[in-house]
Amino acid sequence: MDGSELEHETQRVGREILTRLERDRHSLFAKEWWQGQVLRWCMENEPFKIAFFRFIDVLPNLKTSGDVVRIFREYFDRPEIKTPPLLSWGMKTLIPGSPTVPLASAAIHANVEKMARSFIAGRDLEEARIALEKMERSGAAWSVSMLGEAAVSEEESEAYLRLYLEAIDRLAHFVTDDSEPTTAADRFGLIPRANLAVKLSSLYSQMDPLDWEGSLSVLTERLVRLLIRARELGVHIHLDMEHYAFKDIILEAFFRAMDRPELSGFSDAGIVVQAYLRDSAEDLERILAWAAQHRRGMTVRLVRGAYWDYETVIHRQNGWPVPVYLTKGETDSNYEHLAGRLLSATDTLRAAFGTHNVRSLASVVATARSHGIPNRDFEIQMLFGMGGPLQDALTGMGLRVRIYTPVGELITGVAYLVRRLLENTSNESFLRDYFVEGNSPESVLARSAAVPAGEPEVEGFRNEPPLDFRIGRVRSDFSEAIASVRQRLGRDYPLLIGGEAVQTDDRIASINPARPSEVVGRSASAGTREADRAIAAAEATAMEWSRQPTSERAGVLRRAAESLRTRRMELSAWEVFEVGKTWREADRDVTEAIDFLRYYADEIERKAPSQSMGRYPGERNLYSYLPIGIGVVIAPWNFPLAIPAGMVSAALAAGNAVLFKPSELSPVMGYHLVQAFTEAGLPDGVLAYLPGRGEIVGDYLVRHPAIGFITFTGSRKVGLGIIERAARLSSGQRQVKRVVAEMGGKNAIIVDETADLDLAVPGVVQSAVGFQGQKCSACSRVIVSESIYDAFVHRLVGALKSLRIGPPEDPSTELGPVIEAAAQQRLQTAVEEGGRQGRVILQVTDVPPEGFYVGPAVIADLRPECRIAQEELFGPVVVVLCAKNLDEAIRIANATDYALTGGLYSRSPAAIERVGREMIAGNLYINRGITGAIVGRQPFGGYRLSGVGSKAGGPDYLLQFMIPKVVTENTLRRGFASAE
Ligand code: NAD
Repeated sequence: MDGSELEHETQRVGREILTRLERDRHSLFAKEWWQGQVLRWCMENEPFKIAFFRFIDVLPNLKTSGDVVRIFREYFDRPEIKTPPLLSWGMKTLIPGSPTVPLASAAIHANVEKMARSFIAGRDLEEARIALEKMERSGAAWSVSMLGEAAVSEEESEAYLRLYLEAIDRLAHFVTDDSEPTTAADRFGLIPRANLAVKLSSLYSQMDPLDWEGSLSVLTERLVRLLIRARELGVHIHLDMEHYAFKDIILEAFFRAMDRPELSGFSDAGIVVQAYLRDSAEDLERILAWAAQHRRGMTVRLVRGAYWDYETVIHRQNGWPVPVYLTKGETDSNYEHLAGRLLSATDTLRAAFGTHNVRSLASVVATARSHGIPNRDFEIQMLFGMGGPLQDALTGMGLRVRIYTPVGELITGVAYLVRRLLENTSNESFLRDYFVEGNSPESVLARSAAVPAGEPEVEGFRNEPPLDFRIGRVRSDFSEAIASVRQRLGRDYPLLIGGEAVQTDDRIASINPARPSEVVGRSASAGTREADRAIAAAEATAMEWSRQPTSERAGVLRRAAESLRTRRMELSAWEVFEVGKTWREADRDVTEAIDFLRYYADEIERKAPSQSMGRYPGERNLYSYLPIGIGVVIAPWNFPLAIPAGMVSAALAAGNAVLFKPSELSPVMGYHLVQAFTEAGLPDGVLAYLPGRGEIVGDYLVRHPAIGFITFTGSRKVGLGIIERAARLSSGQRQVKRVVAEMGGKNAIIVDETADLDLAVPGVVQSAVGFQGQKCSACSRVIVSESIYDAFVHRLVGALKSLRIGPPEDPSTELGPVIEAAAQQRLQTAVEEGGRQGRVILQVTDVPPEGFYVGPAVIADLRPECRIAQEELFGPVVVVLCAKNLDEAIRIANATDYALTGGLYSRSPAAIERVGREMIAGNLYINRGITGAIVGRQPFGGYRLSGVGSKAGGPDYLLQFMIPKVVTENTLRRGFASAE
C-alpha cells in the first residue's frame, strides 16, 4: 500500500470503529450519574477541574469528617469557582460543626470511592479477580498494575519486591485454578494469560541516573528475581515506563536482566516506548536491534506517554531541552510512525499498542493489514474503566485487546486516579465531539498535522542550567574531571596582592574531609603585613576602577562567569575534594556562582549612572551612585565558590576594590574564583586574595580605618562580633563602616495532616541532609501534625537509613563527610545531649572509618525550647516535634532567634495562605524542599539573628555597595531660566 491507500484504509477502519461505537452510544455516556455530572462540569470549567483534582488528591489523607468538610469548602467555596448547582446547594449545609457534617463527609467519600472503583479493579488481587474474570469472558486479556505510594526507603522497596513476588504467585494461580485452558497464541506461541506491570522505580528507592552503575546493579538484581519467578510460573512481566530521567536506566536494567544466563530463552517480558518523546524512534531502533539479536518474542508496548506536564515543567525549570513534543499533532504523528515501524518488526517481537484514540487505533489496524499481519500478531491495550464500548468494538472486529488494570487501595491509588481522570476528561471530550456535538467522522479521524511549536523565548536573565546526570557523557566527563583534579592535589597557592603572587611562612593546609591524610592544597596565610600591602594596592587602583563605565565592569563579571563556565566540571571536582560535596551539590554551587556574576552584571547596567529626579522649574536634580571604596569580603566554606562569587562580584560591579578572605577550610576554591577574575581582565590590585586565619587577618581587616564596608557570610557568633567591632571608630577612619552579615538559621518545615508524604519525606530528607546538613538554609526542625506524626516519622527514618554514605567522589554517595574533625565531634556531642533531653530515634553509625563522617540522626520528644532545638547544629541531625494543630506548629516554628528559611507541606489552601503570612522566615517554601535558592528567582537572605542586609541574588543587593548622591543645581542665571 502506498501512503494514500494506507490513509484510505485508516479512514475505512476508523469508520468501522465509529459505527460499532454508535451501537453502544448509550453506554458511552451512561456512566454513573454523579460521576458523569462531575466529569462534565470539569470539562467545561477549568478552575473547578483543578479544585476537583486537588481535592480528590488530598481526600484519602483526611481522617475526620470535620477535615473532609473543611478542606472541601476551602477548595470549592471560592468566588472564582463555579460549582455545579448540586454542590453549591450542598455547600450551604456544610457549616463546620453542624450535625450534617458527618453525613456530608460520608457522601463525599462514598462518591469519590465509587469513582475510584471505576478505574481501580479492586483493593487487592482477590477483589480484582472478579473483574479480571469478567474481562476474559468478554474476550479481553488483562495486565495487572499494583498501585502504591512512592518508595522513599529501602524498607518500602523491599515491600514492593515482596508485593510483586506475591502478585506473580497469585496471578499464576488465578489462571491455573481456572478450567479454561490458555488458547491465545501468536506466531511466537502461547501468550501467557497472567500479566503483571512493574514500576522499576519502586524496586529501588535510591535509584538515580547519576549513580548509573550502582542503581543498575541493584535494579537488575531485583528485577532478575521477579523475572525468574515469573518464568517459573508462566507470568508475563511488563516494565512500565516512567519519568524521562529514568528512561535509559529502565531500558538498560531490562537488557541486563534479560541477558542473565539464568533467563536465557525467556521472552515473556516487555517494555514501553513513549511516542511523546523526541528520542523515541532512536530508542525503538535500539530495542529492535537488541531483540533481534537476543530476545525474539519479547513485547514492546507503544503509548503516548503520561507525564507531559511534569516533563515540560521540570525541564524548563532546569533550563534543559524539553524531551517531549510540544504539540499533540507531533506526538500523534510520531505515534503512527512508530506504530508502523513496530508492526514491520513483528517477526522479531510482540507489538502492543496502548491508546484510546480512534484515529490511532484505525491507523494501527490499517498498517497491520497493509503489512499482511494477522490480528493475532499484535495487541491493543486499554485502561481499565476507560475502554468499555471501544473494547467491545475492537474485540468485535477480531482484534486482541488487553486491559491495563490497576489494583490497590483508594488511598494509595489516588495519584493514579487523578491522572486517569485528567486523561478521561480530554479523551471523552474527543468522543463527545463526535457523539454529542455531532462533529463529522472526518474531523475525528483526521490525520493530525505535526506542526512543531517553538519554545517560548525567555527574556532577560537566565540561570545556568545544572548538569543533567542522566546523560552518560556528562557522567563520564565528571568522572574524568575528578581523576584529573586528583592528580593536581597538594599544590601550593600563594596570596594574590596587586597582581603579584605572595608567599608566606605560615601555611594553611586544606584537607579532604573524606580522607584527612589527603592534602587538597596548601595556601599561603595572610597576616597583618600582607593585609596592609593589599590595602595599599587597593587604594592605588580603586579610583581608576570606580571610574570605569558600568559596561566595562559588567563585562569583567560576564567574562569571569564564562571562565567559570568553561571550567565547571573541574571546579566542581575541586569542591568534591575540598569540602566534601557530592557531585550534584558541587555542580549546583558552581552554577550558582556563574548566576551571581551574570545577574549582578545585568543589575549594575540596569542602575543608570545617574537619573534626574523629575522636572522642577529653575532646578536640576541628579541622583547617582558612588562606590563606597574599599571593602572586605569574608566568606564561609560551605558554598566555597558561589557565596564569595556573589559577594565579591556585587562589590566589584558597584565600583569598589575588594579584599577577599576565603574560609581557611576552602582556600583552593577561593583561589579559583580570583583566577576567574584575573582571566576576565580585572585590573591588578582591585581584588586581593587573602586567605588567612579569621581571628588574625579577618579581624585586622574589619578594624582597619581604610575599610568602608564588610560583607560577611558565616556563623552568628563571628558575624555579631564583626558588627560590634566595625562599629568602633579607629583613628584615621573617615567613614562609618557598613556591614552586611548573612548568618545562621534553625529552619523549620511544618508538615500538616493534609501533606502528601510521598513529597514531604524526600523533601525533608533533601533539605535536612543535603550536603550533610551544612547549609544555612538546611531544615533542622520538622514540626509534624499529631495525626500523621507516627506515619511521617517512620517513613522519614526509613528514608534517612537508606542513604548511601561514603566518599563524595564516588557517584553513588548521597551523604559525604562533614567539614572537619571539630564539627564531627560537636555533632556527636549534640546527639548525645539530644538523647539525654529527648529520644534519639535514629543514629546511623555505620560510616566509613576514615574521614569526618556523621551518620544521619533524628531526635524526638524534645521540648521546643531546649538547646538542641534552638541552636544551629550544621550537620545531618534533625529534630522532630509534634504539634496538635497549625496554631501550635506556627508557634513552635517562630519561637527561635532566627528567620532564614522555612517550609510547609500541605494541601490545605487555607493553611498555605496562613503559613505564608505568619511563618517567620526570609525565604519560605511551600510543598518543596527549603534549600537551593536560585539567583534571580528566589533572592535569598534572612532577618532576626539570621542576618542584616538585602537579599543575595535579588534586585536590591547591589545598593548595599553604593552610596547614593544628589547634585542639585540652580539653573536660573540672573533671572533667566536655561533653555530646557
Ligand atoms: P564562620 O563564621 O566560622 O566563618 C566565616 C568566615 O569568617 C571565615 O572566613 C572565617 O575565617 C571568618 N572569621 C572567623 N573569625 C573571624 C573574626 N574574628 N573576624 C573576621 N573574620 C572571622 O562560619 P563557617 O563555619 O565558615 O560557615 C558556616 C556558617 O555560615 C553557618 O553558621 C551558616 O549558617 C552560615 N552561613 C550563612 C549563610 C547565609 O546566607 N545566611 C550562607 C552560608 C553560610
